[in-house]
Amino acid sequence: MITALYAGSFDPITNGHIDIATRASNLFDKIIIGIFATPDKRLTFSTEERVDMAKRAVAHLDKVEVIAYDGITVEFARRMGAKVMVRGLRMVGDFEWEFEMAMMNRLLSPDLELVCFMASQQYQFLSASLIKEVASLGGDISGLVPGHVAEALKKRGVSPSRM
Ligand code: ADP
Repeated sequence: MITALYAGSFDPITNGHIDIATRASNLFDKIIIGIFATPDKRLTFSTEERVDMAKRAVAHLDKVEVIAYDGITVEFARRMGAKVMVRGLRMVGDFEWEFEMAMMNRLLSPDLELVCFMASQQYQFLSASLIKEVASLGGDISGLVPGHVAEALKKRGVSPSRM
């Protein structure tokens, strides 16, 4: 039984994230979406809100579970019994950062294997921060996030200064 951890800030979860979780669930027995409670960036949604939105977004995926965590990601992976860490790679920009992080994680936890999924073509450009910017300007984000996330962004009246 192979458990994979897909960690990130998910502020909020987008269809790009859901695509990666779905594809990972075709390969592994269990996927934990780990929502990092205190990332080094200004958050729009609380941990509880991010967890709640992610849970609703993957409710149809039997093998996927959503859990908030804090501290070092590889430690969380160890606690969860995850053998694999899943990441999504968009344009070349992601690669450098993911590579650096992978090297550090390998040092901290040599047994944890990294599996990167190439972003699907339609989500290559999609990031949570871009979604927030477009939503704040009144742009149409349907098709890029689940309906309940679009609703939450609208309610929050996200403005670029809060990102
Ligand atoms: P973001 O970069 O959107 O703020 P996170 O920090 O929550 O998102 O990202 C968690 C993981 O999901 C990272 O590996 C990131 O590269 C990946 N990811 C984010 N958006 C997408 C997307 N549109 N397609 C594929 N992978 C993605």
